Amino acid sequence: MSKPAVMRRMPQIAHVDVNCFYASAERAFNPALEGRPVIVLSNNDGCAVTRSPEAKRLGIAMGEPWFKLAPRAREWGLVALSSNYELYGDISARVMELLGRYSAWLEVYSIDEAFLGVKGSPDELLALGRAMKAAVRRNVGVPVCVGIGPTKTLAKLAN
Ligand SMILES: [Mg+2]
Repeated sequence: MSKPAVMRRMPQIAHVDVNCFYASAERAFNPALEGRPVIVLSNNDGCAVTRSPEAKRLGIAMGEPWFKLAPRAREWGLVALSSNYELYGDISARVMELLGRYSAWLEVYSIDEAFLGVKGSPDELLALGRAMKAAVRRNVGVPVCVGIGPTKTLAKLAN
């Protein structure tokens, strides 16, 4: 049984999250890092705070200290970068500015996450999610995932 049209057009919330944010921001800045295992190290203690999917596949754990990884870095082709918060702030601002064009209500939730008010049929919402994902990739150069649901919790869960 299909829901009445009025139900399907209730306001929804989209949760947009940049994948592996610091590593993705470094790649947007330096495309030569694409496809390589990349980790970003904390400037305080030299532990991995972000891992690209390739770095995760190597079995590198979150919080793993650089001194433990360094002996195998060459063999893995691992790129380890120190944190560049100025760059991440700049990329974040560009992502949020772009997302703001898709909704009159945007809540910046963290440096790489936002909630947006959205409306439409399921097909329209799917198309909107895909359009936002493609636009952020094309214009800012970072990958995002989008989840849409009736509440923030469900939108985040859907993501
Ligand atoms: Mg993220």
